Amino acid sequence: MAIYNKCKVKNVFMGKLDYGKDILEELTNICEKENITLGIINALGAVQKANVGFYNQETKEYQFQEFDEPLEITALIGNVSLRDGKPIIHAHITLSDEHDNAIGGHLVPGTTVFACEFEIIELDGPAYKRGLDDVTGLPLWKM
Ligand code: ZN
Repeated sequence: MAIYNKCKVKNVFMGKLDYGKDILEELTNICEKENITLGIINALGAVQKANVGFYNQETKEYQFQEFDEPLEITALIGNVSLRDGKPIIHAHITLSDEHDNAIGGHLVPGTTVFACEFEIIELDGPAYKRGLDDVTGLPLWKM
């Protein structure tokens, strides 16, 4: 059975990130500064380089791949919830190269901004807390 709650939009933060900054760190900094503990994240733009993860379901470990080249952010989607009492962003990113080939995965540090416009939609609702899920080995919502 799926677990979910009905939430209301509290605030929308819309802006752009600085050139050369780490996307995940900057978005996390904004959530910490604004005390956002529940929300939705969208972003688009371009990166100077990227680092993305793929979760190996057999080994239950992330495999990371770096792309040291300019790429378009065709989509960045994510959410904000709590892990150990702190806001944590879970985001996935899809990028395209100069030949329009797409790559993507779980967003991790090492993805740097060329240009990035974002929205953080802060929600009002019960806390979503992450905890280790025995089946997947992932820090999933326990609510
Ligand atoms: Zn992920």
